[in-house]
Amino acid sequence: MSEVNGAGPGVTNGAGPIVIIGGGHAAAQLSAGLVDAGQGARVHLVCEEAELPYQRPPLSKAYLKDAAQAVQQHRAEAWYTDAGITLHRADPAVAIDRGKKVVRLRSGKELPYANVVLATGARARGLPHLDANLSNVAVLRNAADAGRLRGLLGTAQKLTVVGGGFIGLEIAATARVLGKEVTVLESAQRLLGRSVSEDIGTHVLQTHRAAGIDVRLGVSVGSFEVEGGKLAALAVDGQREAIELLVLGIGAHPEHTLASEAGLTCDNGIQVDALMRTSDPAILAIGDCTSFPDTRDGDRRRRLESVQNANDQARTATATLLGREEPYRALPWFWSEQGALRLQMAGLLPAGTTAHRRPGATPASFSVLHYLDGKLVCVESVNAPLDHIASRKLLETGVSPDPAVACDPAVALKTLG
Ligand code: NAP
Repeated sequence: MSEVNGAGPGVTNGAGPIVIIGGGHAAAQLSAGLVDAGQGARVHLVCEEAELPYQRPPLSKAYLKDAAQAVQQHRAEAWYTDAGITLHRADPAVAIDRGKKVVRLRSGKELPYANVVLATGARARGLPHLDANLSNVAVLRNAADAGRLRGLLGTAQKLTVVGGGFIGLEIAATARVLGKEVTVLESAQRLLGRSVSEDIGTHVLQTHRAAGIDVRLGVSVGSFEVEGGKLAALAVDGQREAIELLVLGIGAHPEHTLASEAGLTCDNGIQVDALMRTSDPAILAIGDCTSFPDTRDGDRRRRLESVQNANDQARTATATLLGREEPYRALPWFWSEQGALRLQMAGLLPAGTTAHRRPGATPASFSVLHYLDGKLVCVESVNAPLDHIASRKLLETGVSPDPAVACDPAVALKTLG
């Protein structure tokens, strides 16, 4: 990658405070990158939560299952202190004054900046007309949500999940392992419609049904019956369904309030260029909150909600802040653990692909390779982690094995040397 004298106007290239707003994976990775480069003393890390940045994937699985599990911090407090990072916990940013170049916190503190990095993530969607404060209704985005849900699950016998996406299915599978009676209500005619192929969606559906989860597709969730601060029932396709505990896993909105109020360009997220610079080049944005140009796909704008995207965009932003121009070009990949199911995806799945199953697969462990116009674009693996690792390397090379001859990613990788 080219070394430039600052990554464009506005990026300070080695001087002045960097205010990182957010405490998720993107913010944690960026902090680590800047510390590795000896720039920790420039960093102010502004977190809405009191917790230090922590791992989010366990929240819908191990953490939910086991009351003895603690939140897993990325790094202990001493690491931040030793690195010279100034932490602002439970004190969210409420405004960015671009004229004065200060970030204002809820406490009234003002932080002068040379650069700001917005790593504000996404917020769980609610159902219209359903009061999110009811005592038996939950969402899951952060540790406080997970702690609350864990407490509620401890006493509930029956869980109803609205939404058959990753969040909903991970929670449903965890609750089933805990012996709960679980129902999943999905409005689409299939599961995981936004993220996996029909083939994998069908496999996931069959697996969850075989485990005893009542998965209902194509349903419409309607009016709500509230009693004494609790949701007593909801209408499912017009029929009354009694509710003991309800979880909403119906998607997330990019959190771009601060950016919009500061006059930055936002459209399905905070718009950034391939170096993660917003419409004000002194301000960068990374992770779930960004809409970025996909340099692998003709600069088409995308927004991805994944740990991979957060970490890789943080690496790009680190380079930008250090004056190096390293455009974002990472291969997207995802994983989800739902009970005994381990789903892993490498690459994005466009419409119109031809699918090939890896030969020799078993019903419980297999991979599906997707080709578009003869080119391998995406590999989905079910309980086949070695396939996934090989697929990622294969997709990185950009070379496609002939599906008729070899669609075992590991073998194909070996043949490419
Ligand atoms: P999601 O993946 O967007 O799935 C939400 C599902 O709920 C969709 O299938 C959606 O159907 C359905 N839905 C929406 N409104 C509904 C309604 N009123 N009634 C019934 N179903 C409804 O969102 P999510 O599972 O909440 O997760 C949020 C984000 O976190 C996602 O981007 C997800 O990928 C990410 N995440 C990733 C992981 C991972 O990588 N392991 C784990 C958890 C979460 P339609 O598509 O038809 O609207």
